[in-house]
Amino acid sequence: MKAIVVGGGIMGLATTWALAREGCRVELFEQADLPHPLGSSFDEHRLIRHPYGDHAGYARLIDDAFAAWELVWQELGQRLYAPTGTLALSGNGATWAGRSAASLAAIGHPMTEIAVADLPRRFPLLKTHGVERAFWIASGGVLFAQDIVSALARRLAAKPGVALHPRAPVRDVDLDRARIVTEAGAAHDADVVVVAAGAWVPRLLPSLAGRLVPSRQVVAYFDLPAADRAAWAKGPMILEQTGDMGLYLVPPMQGRGLKVGDHAFSRTGDPAAERTASEDEMRPLLARCRSLLQGFAQWRVERLKVCFYTVTADERFVVEKQGEAGWIMSPCSGHGFKFGALMGLELARTIAGERDPAAHARWAAGLEGDT
Ligand SMILES: Cc1cc2nc3c(=O)[nH]c(=O)nc-3n(C[C@H](O)[C@H](O)[C@H](O)COP(=O)(O)OP(=O)(O)OC[C@H]3O[C@@H](n4cnc5c(N)ncnc54)[C@H](O)[C@@H]3O)c2cc1C
Repeated sequence: MKAIVVGGGIMGLATTWALAREGCRVELFEQADLPHPLGSSFDEHRLIRHPYGDHAGYARLIDDAFAAWELVWQELGQRLYAPTGTLALSGNGATWAGRSAASLAAIGHPMTEIAVADLPRRFPLLKTHGVERAFWIASGGVLFAQDIVSALARRLAAKPGVALHPRAPVRDVDLDRARIVTEAGAAHDADVVVVAAGAWVPRLLPSLAGRLVPSRQVVAYFDLPAADRAAWAKGPMILEQTGDMGLYLVPPMQGRGLKVGDHAFSRTGDPAAERTASEDEMRPLLARCRSLLQGFAQWRVERLKVCFYTVTADERFVVEKQGEAGWIMSPCSGHGFKFGALMGLELARTIAGERDPAAHARWAAGLEGDT
């Protein structure tokens, strides 16, 4: 079997790797360099964690996601991951942390509730302002995202049966005939085509525009005093929701930066437009950092980065067969990277005939075993 993959982010690369493992010949087309620095997968880190609010279906997949990454580490000969543990905080009417703990208890991954009065002793880096409940689980950590996609691209370039085409934008996709046409006018045929074009997908397949929405998100990297940096380099990751804010903090593991972002979707923006951000648009997030993080007055914004989510209304992944020989692969809504290896492996299995496409779409949407 021959497959064409459009897009060289984590989804396209992992699917190419997994299809090659199934014995497929694969050609991957990427519009920019491989990896693309403006792709959603290209950032110092992405988090993987069990807490998933009410989405028990995704929480159940986390163990499988970790197992899939193990296969990637074997393939790459290196482990691009650092464990941090996961601390989830909530307050002011927000209940995500408690709901995560409830659904994890039901599937055998209990979180420990920490009394707010004990937080400063357990986590001296934090203030307790606005925090009403705190839950801890020792699992979870940081995937070194841009190192992973870079290493996968290098590895795949040397694999027999795999052909990578960087700087080869695809103009048209025929999902019935598994045919693509590049901007340069070259047509390529296969038995199956997988479109993993990230936030650019509505440009390539306009019929998906209402369903898969690019969402401009800004994150801040901080320069912090050496003592703070050393303390944060031991973790944990923070997932915090107190009312309107939804802050996450990625600790500076193994020499990477310390990053803070707000998970709330902007649902605006064009991934192909110029990407500049100002501290002004980060004001609510920076204010929350000030009230939550010890010593924040000494921290400086080192850089702001604009990145794109591709969001669906219910935050579930879209991995669906379309046409006679096509797959749309959009596991994102801001939480897809952790599942990248798993999504690739499972899609390759389904393409090889091991699962019904409709069952695959339900599985990827996190609907199996959801509450
Ligand atoms: C700020 C931020 C924080 C995040 N944090 C987390 C996290 O902590 N944990 C987590 O699990 N997930 C997280 N995510 C989400 C995760 O990064 C994405 O879900 C994932 O990277 C999506 O991968 P992708 O391969 O679908 O998209 P991309 O990485 O964007 O790849 C798509 C590729 O397709 C290419 N392409 C597009 N159109 C064409 C075309 N016409 N021809 C050829 N190539 C084309 C693009 O150039 C691009 O390289 C975060 C995302 C952002 C932006």
